[in-house]
Amino acid sequence: MKVGIVGVGMVGSAAGYAIALLGAASEVVLVDHKPELAIAQAEDIAHAVPFVGTCRVSAGDYALLAGADVVILAAGVAQVPGESRLSLLARNADVFADVVGRVLAAAPQALLVVASNPVDVMTGIARRVSGLPPERVIGSGTILDTARFRTLLADHFGIAPQSVHAFVLGEHGDSEVLAWSLAHVGGEPVGSAAAKLGRPLTDGDRARIDDGVRWAGARIMAGKGATWYGIGAGLARIVQAVRDDQRAVLTVSAHTALVAGMADVTLSLPRVIGAGGVIATLMPDLTADETAALRHSAQVLKDAAGDLW
Ligand code: ADP
Repeated sequence: MKVGIVGVGMVGSAAGYAIALLGAASEVVLVDHKPELAIAQAEDIAHAVPFVGTCRVSAGDYALLAGADVVILAAGVAQVPGESRLSLLARNADVFADVVGRVLAAAPQALLVVASNPVDVMTGIARRVSGLPPERVIGSGTILDTARFRTLLADHFGIAPQSVHAFVLGEHGDSEVLAWSLAHVGGEPVGSAAAKLGRPLTDGDRARIDDGVRWAGARIMAGKGATWYGIGAGLARIVQAVRDDQRAVLTVSAHTALVAGMADVTLSLPRVIGAGGVIATLMPDLTADETAALRHSAQVLKDAAGDLW
């Protein structure tokens, strides 16, 4: 499979590196409006490949995206420490107005995977600008927040994160919703699993885990200015699911006709991801509080997007 990445700063290059190391694609093409950056990133990533497998990594203009099955959109201006994701919107909307048309002119059949922040709004903009059906424009959304949630629960229980089923819904950002009522371990809701494992889950533990998930990005930014490894691996995970038509359930962002009483909003829900992009959405049954929180998150996104969607 051929994957293109447009915008190869920290996130785009980390995605390229993860895809190359995981062997998630046979060919990766890097594009950036700084051509010398794309060439340097391609060369650097290509030098890692002989240690792990085979993947052709190159850099060039949009024309090189011809035949790409997936194009990751990671172009944009960087989020500065302290800046909310939503405040990036106006600047990055302009970038996408330019980039999406060029991508589709070169690779009209490509599935778009959006990584630029604020990712939910940018995914909605990419859908509108591209005119593609909603299932073919996926945002990385809360894929990383969900991974963090599963990891912190797993740490608490002393088990593997892969054995924890839990989901973060809504905005990839401050208003995201940790759906505690959906969290299960070994078929048990986490509350009863906690008792059986002898690791009680107190309100304090829940608050600590919520904090650990919700503010992870801000903490990493405070320490190193931006985040890239986690999201790079998350993007590679989406590519794998598409390449192998895995039908994997991932929390990714996509246009949603109706959620928590809100119409036409782009946010994350558990979705079945395969060769065609979003194959199905699993609309969760939430508690009243969670539904209200999800509705609030949808409203935050709608307010931020204004008439851009
Ligand atoms: P992040 O941390 O989100 O990856 P970066 O600033 O490191 O942010 O990367 C964003 C990348 O997007 C940069 O390499 C920048 O050159 C690129 N970029 C910005 N505008 C455009 C554009 N119009 N077309 C292609 N690439 C762009």
